[in-house]
Amino acid sequence: MIDQFGRRVEYLRISVTDKCNLRCVYCMPMEGLPWLKRQELLTYEEIARIVRVMAGIGLRRVRITGGEPLVRRDLPDLVRQIAWVPEIEDLSLSTNAVLLADLADELRSAGVQRLNVSLDSLRPDRVDEIARRPGSYPKIMEGLAAAEEAGFSPIKINVVLIRGRNDDEIEEFAEITRERPWHVRFIEMMPTGANLELSAEQFVSCTEALRRIERIEALEPVAGPFGNGPARYHRFPGAPGTIGVITPMSHNYCDRCNRMRLTADGQLRPCLFGALQTNLRDPLRAGEDLVPLIAETLRVKPERHYLIQGSAAGSGGLVALSQTGG
Ligand code: SAM
Ligand code: SF4
Repeated sequence: MIDQFGRRVEYLRISVTDKCNLRCVYCMPMEGLPWLKRQELLTYEEIARIVRVMAGIGLRRVRITGGEPLVRRDLPDLVRQIAWVPEIEDLSLSTNAVLLADLADELRSAGVQRLNVSLDSLRPDRVDEIARRPGSYPKIMEGLAAAEEAGFSPIKINVVLIRGRNDDEIEEFAEITRERPWHVRFIEMMPTGANLELSAEQFVSCTEALRRIERIEALEPVAGPFGNGPARYHRFPGAPGTIGVITPMSHNYCDRCNRMRLTADGQLRPCLFGALQTNLRDPLRAGEDLVPLIAETLRVKPERHYLIQGSAAGSGGLVALSQTGG
């Protein structure tokens, strides 16, 4: 699958639910998001069917995301169905890890190869405040420990930077990479309908994060772990882990975009932002050929996103990243 700008698209991020057990301040509103109805959601068989069709025309890598994917029942069943598709070389999962402790082993044996875990602070009270769900921190830590025990490697830790909430922990997060083989990735907050004020007023750029880390010791650029996508990686000399930056706002990386997204209700989106999407669910249920629809979605994949700091204009009506999988 090659788009009109010459980008090879071989990666699909699949959101399996729009629901979440957390309410991260930068992601979801506390309440008021309308949930998808059960019959609107793709079944696991339907998702696997779409993966098989796309694998036939070049899909090689899949990430399962949400909302929070672990809140959807029997997720390992979906993992097994995708892992069986011979063309899929890489299957990963993004999670907040709250429910991971009980599922890590089963997910690994079902076929998840790599994990990204969201962890925005190293302090229990702050994690709970950012996630707006008390008691999250110990569960996340148990989940991370279980993931390490289950043999997941690399583990990537995603940290969304928020001024006044976690920006004073940038150095601490960086120091972890000297101790553990974690790949800590700082992410710039993107504006959506639900976080306009926050993203305008409490935005921190990754340039600032790197500048502060380099005051501890000079970093060296490295290739980063497999599946590095838009992140650019650095490390302290000799450290087992790396420090990545994901800079959708300060340095747009759309020219390297290799992905499309499938929402939980079966909309194929060529870009995280913007209003473009193709309904695959209804044609799939009607027994139609999906290949022309996928080809058309690829054809209209925009050259770049048009996000503007402090404005919802570029997000294409998107209220929360939980709706598309981030
Ligand atoms: N619930 C899972 C999790 O938190 O990892 C998967 C879904 S979440 C939408 C995927 C990623 O998007 C997370 O790393 C999260 O931190 C990030 N994210 C959500 N809203 C964001 C925003 N407005 N700006 C930047 N990153 C955001
Ligand atoms: Fe839930 Fe992930 Fe969004 Fe946090 S970032 S509210 S964990 S979907």
